[in-house]
Amino acid sequence: MKRDAMPKVIIVEDEESLARNLAEKLRSDGFNVVTSNDGEDGLEKIRSEHPDLIVLDIMLPRLDGLSICRIVRHDANTAHIPIIILTARGTEVDKIVGLESGADDYIVKPFSLGEFLARVRAVMRRPTTLGRPVAQDEMISNNLRLSLTGRRFFKEEDEIKLSNKEFDLLAELMRNRGAVLSRDLILTKVWGYDYFVDKRTVDVHVRWLREKIEDDPSNPSRIVTVRGVGYRFEG
Ligand code: CA
Repeated sequence: MKRDAMPKVIIVEDEESLARNLAEKLRSDGFNVVTSNDGEDGLEKIRSEHPDLIVLDIMLPRLDGLSICRIVRHDANTAHIPIIILTARGTEVDKIVGLESGADDYIVKPFSLGEFLARVRAVMRRPTTLGRPVAQDEMISNNLRLSLTGRRFFKEEDEIKLSNKEFDLLAELMRNRGAVLSRDLILTKVWGYDYFVDKRTVDVHVRWLREKIEDDPSNPSRIVTVRGVGYRFEG
């Protein structure tokens, strides 16, 4: 395969032996690999190399992985690039999910190279992570269409009325399609910081939404429950 045609992965990881092992594994599987052992340098390379996938450690010199993640997501040139986060502790998982880092997946260290490769392949196959919109007027996912400016919702060609909160909730889920959103994050984004509501409010609104958007609300395939964490929208 020509080098240009090979999918390019950037690994930003300051543990040199780990970075080397990951790079070797990916290269032997046909990836073009760029590495960086520093947060600021990694971000620069992400911007200049146009990778197809970013693999990010959290604790990095100069700029941490979660900050890189957010910067990448808020830059229209890089917002669509899938991100896998490497994390040393299970306790960091809350941060990855809860702070809306924008990561597509995460792996807790230590992990096997086989598992790593499987996650890389899965994330790169996931069509919904490609072309993730930063800001646009319409969000479309299969038979569902959300018009943001008009605040209107369509399933197939039929317009379905959503309450304000249902609309905001669905928009938030669709905007982050494929990623798990915690109830806390949903509350913050949809109901706001200052508004005290019970986490079950989210569950109730999800149930109402499912009645409106799912083909079989009792067996949801669009808004999926991620046990113990929250919800994920499946494109
Ligand atoms: Ca590190």
